[in-house]
Amino acid sequence: MNGLTDQERKRYTRNLVLEEIGEAGQLKLKAGRVLVVGTGGLGSPALYYLTAAGVGTLGIVDSDQVDLTNLQRQIIHSMDNLGQAKTVSAYEKLARLNSDIRIVPVQERVTTENACRIIDGYDVVVDGTDNFPTRFILNSACIKTGRPFIHGGILGFTGQAMTVVPGRGPCFQCVFQEPPSPGTVPESPGVLGAVAGTIGTIQAAEAVKILLGTGQLLIGRLLIYDALQLSFREVQVKKNTACPICKAL
Ligand SMILES: [Zn+2]
Repeated sequence: MNGLTDQERKRYTRNLVLEEIGEAGQLKLKAGRVLVVGTGGLGSPALYYLTAAGVGTLGIVDSDQVDLTNLQRQIIHSMDNLGQAKTVSAYEKLARLNSDIRIVPVQERVTTENACRIIDGYDVVVDGTDNFPTRFILNSACIKTGRPFIHGGILGFTGQAMTVVPGRGPCFQCVFQEPPSPGTVPESPGVLGAVAGTIGTIQAAEAVKILLGTGQLLIGRLLIYDALQLSFREVQVKKNTACPICKAL
């Protein structure tokens, strides 16, 4: 593995002084490959912080274009990007923030057919999607290929996060069982942008901890954030021994 350049040493000074990171940890981040699926409310802060932290390879998956209604929470995009592919818009911001990492735009919609191919080559997958079916697909592909999956979700003034590490605790499907039937969930629900910021940032911290191999992950713990009450609480969640996705692990 290559060492750090002088520029990297300077850029990551505040990482390097941390006992939990140091030079060895920064090299782990540099060698790390994180895929963020979705460049929306969750993906925006997650991508910014992972880029700033020096994660060496960052994949960004999105098939949408930037719309004015996105800008209330999807802070990686701006007025200049309206109508542009979100991957292009995100790439441009992140490349400006950190030219020492590799950013790989993936202009695709995740499906059952392509999920394993899209996540191939990454160490960790961050869920920045806005719909349940895609989360079930990603969870299944991550379990199948042995990759950690960091779930995040937001609705109104509340948000939730949970980390799935195959073979260690429950998977997303153990907890949520099946996607809600079509029509039962509003297509464009209200959500406070700042809540997305909090949850996406928690997901970024989880991804960094996985790459470093340090700290306690949100495994078997569903974290629930309520911005109106300003409270965080945890629900202990168990592996479903009959889960069709992870029971064999
Ligand atoms: Zn499961």
